[in-house]
Amino acid sequence: MNSMPLPFAGFSIIFVLVAGFIAFVIIGSIVKGAAEWSSNNAAPQLRFPARVVTKRTHVSGGSGNSSASTSYYITFERLSDNARQEFRVKASDYSALADDDFGELAHQGTRYLGFVRSPAPATPPPAPAPAPVVERKIRYCAYCGHQLALDTNKCPGCGSLWHPSLNASEPAS
Ligand SMILES: [Zn+2]
Repeated sequence: MNSMPLPFAGFSIIFVLVAGFIAFVIIGSIVKGAAEWSSNNAAPQLRFPARVVTKRTHVSGGSGNSSASTSYYITFERLSDNARQEFRVKASDYSALADDDFGELAHQGTRYLGFVRSPAPATPPPAPAPAPVVERKIRYCAYCGHQLALDTNKCPGCGSLWHPSLNASEPAS
């Protein structure tokens, strides 16, 4: 096998190039996945109130002999600052959650840990009821019977000063 026929030698070179390219892509994918896995491990585990914004699926493969596989993604929005992030989730979570669901999201970096549904956050409380009207009692001067103005203790009739000891009604505050 010192000298191969030229057509076969040419095929061999192409084979090596294609195989090398495929190996490069596969290794690159593995390295990238390992880097993300390592980065997620170093990230803090966070959980906070969030809302489901939208969902999507991505189908890959399915051509030729390979069977199609579906990936499931959900975009969540943190309630505190409306920051959004999309996570790849399990199919069961994808089907169990719907747009605008509220709950607590747990994640670590890009790794989805779970989402626990809860009732929607309380709507803003209704406007406070108007302050009750303070009943301001009508007072009369103990000396001359003149009706006093509500905002003064001085009788407009005789000039006397109203005083609780001289009148049964309390002064208006
Ligand atoms: Zn008076």
